[in-house]
Amino acid sequence: MTTSSTILPAELEDLVALFDVRRTDAPTSDEARAELVAAPKFGTVFTDHMARITWRADVGWADRRIEKYGPLQMDPATAVLHYAQEIFEGLKAYKHADGSVWTFRPDLNAARFARSAHRLALPALSVDDFIGSLAALVRTDLAWVPGSSDSSLYLRPFMYASEVFLGVRPSAEVEYLVIASPVGPYFAGGVKPVSIWVADDYHRAGPGGTGAAKCGGNYAASLLPQLEAQKLGFDQVCFLDAIENLYLEELGGMNVFLVMADGSVHTPELTGSILEGVTRSSILQLAADRGHDVVERRIPLAEVAAGLADGSVKEIFACGTAAVITPVGRLAGGTFDHTLNGGEPGELTMEIRDELTDIQYGRVADRHGWLRRLA
Ligand SMILES: *Cc1c(COP(=O)(O)O)cnc(C)c1O
Repeated sequence: MTTSSTILPAELEDLVALFDVRRTDAPTSDEARAELVAAPKFGTVFTDHMARITWRADVGWADRRIEKYGPLQMDPATAVLHYAQEIFEGLKAYKHADGSVWTFRPDLNAARFARSAHRLALPALSVDDFIGSLAALVRTDLAWVPGSSDSSLYLRPFMYASEVFLGVRPSAEVEYLVIASPVGPYFAGGVKPVSIWVADDYHRAGPGGTGAAKCGGNYAASLLPQLEAQKLGFDQVCFLDAIENLYLEELGGMNVFLVMADGSVHTPELTGSILEGVTRSSILQLAADRGHDVVERRIPLAEVAAGLADGSVKEIFACGTAAVITPVGRLAGGTFDHTLNGGEPGELTMEIRDELTDIQYGRVADRHGWLRRLA
């Protein structure tokens, strides 16, 4: 079960060896760390170190290093603060029962990071540097990887325009970093369905825009609609396409799926304004493996509302790395409001969720070779 890595250990060693490890001289004490790792709160606690690579237009990527986690000194005229030339990724490191540490399909994150970089006119980072930086950081901060079930070390690679210049053009200096945060189960105390408001007055992305790139700017644009949905009493907001305002796209940071009464599993097709989630791709595969028809297509909201009313839409869920699969217990918009499954998680929703997390934590065979060993 733990032999599926297609990156040979020797190769990974070579990638890690490119990083100069400059350890902090004031690491968190074993006691304090154990306390932080035992009760992690998403995105608030970070490990002792971070990975870093610096890019200059005339030099390329250089100075691969692991250094002490800490504040970045920034000139007020640093380009990213003004024009938001920034991209990021999100993935997790999972500790298996034998103590080995693995990550899930990082090649897909690396490829997406390169596509996001292209769209934001940032330099592409190689797959080798992407995976090497994750492994170098995880090995340095190995003691920070939680061992309890459904806990993990969340890895956040990101890249930003660091040149001090207010002119509008791609930055000639870029920083790439990876920070890491121990995280507990997303749903402490059991998976709880969320309520979703479908926005018809805001869009997160449009044709030719940055919707398919994982960039901070997309998230900035989703915050006000999210806030307004929360004021109406909903947990999350779902966006429609920006041309016709008719078709389901996705949430601010999660893709969306429907399970139909006939057993088929549907998700919006990638239109260029939808982010291609690693979780989305994996669910399409797992559902197909189970014999379900999987359909990527344009999905009219009106059809979903009618399907919820007549029972042809049985389950809805959202998905992404952080929460894996989040059941939707209520979907509402300007003209409809439906509770699904009595507000309980759907059956197939939970089966696929369990299977995916079992693969990630090494509890079942990794038949697709999705896991990569980091340490
Ligand atoms: C990151 C993200 C997702 C989920 O992608 P995963 O690779 O599954 O984590 C979905 N939608 C948006 C907008 C995202 O930024």
